[in-house]
Amino acid sequence: MTVEKRKALIIVYTGNGKGKTTAALGMLLRAWGRGMKVAMLSFMKNEDANFGEERAARRLGVEMVPMGKGFTWLSKDLSRDEAMARQAWAVSQSKIASGEYDIVILDEITYPINYGWLALEDVIEVLRHRPPNVHVVLTGRDAPQGLIDFADLVTEMREVKHPFQAGIKAQPGVDF
Ligand code: ATP
Ligand code: MG
Repeated sequence: MTVEKRKALIIVYTGNGKGKTTAALGMLLRAWGRGMKVAMLSFMKNEDANFGEERAARRLGVEMVPMGKGFTWLSKDLSRDEAMARQAWAVSQSKIASGEYDIVILDEITYPINYGWLALEDVIEVLRHRPPNVHVVLTGRDAPQGLIDFADLVTEMREVKHPFQAGIKAQPGVDF
């Protein structure tokens, strides 16, 4: 096993089961512990969500940017969501291209891709031409096949059981 050799990876967490964002956060923490520079850009998270991970990020001094407007099916203004997604993608592109980060997490980016707001080819082009030191983690349900083909590491979370099915609400610290 070559331990020291750095190879920047494209990592995808997808599937209907819980744990995609949590897995990305685990990697963020691991990298942070090594003194690596990490940024997490959330495509769907509302600016005033203030989830546990955002509170933690402030205390750790980690850049975590909620750039979405919440989930789109709650929105009455789709075009505004689309504009925000495109803006979020512009920010993501510049962070990736800067080469300043060891890991950039694009949380829930599969949704704007699947809605047709971001072109998959554009996303893959940016990933392909990124500086050679930057790992990129992409999360969200229904990762498109082209992204799966391009990635180095893909894990599909499969739902076996989720408390939501028993009518149990999201829990602080577990879900948000
Ligand atoms: P998490 O952020 O907990 O890792 P996730 O990123 O895999 O979850 P998302 O699709 O982003 O899942 O949804 C986030 C929210 O939806 C969380 O509150 C999570 O508990 C809940 N959730 C995730 N999977 C399911 C599921 N299969 N059924 C019901 N609720 C779910
Ligand atoms: Mg998620």
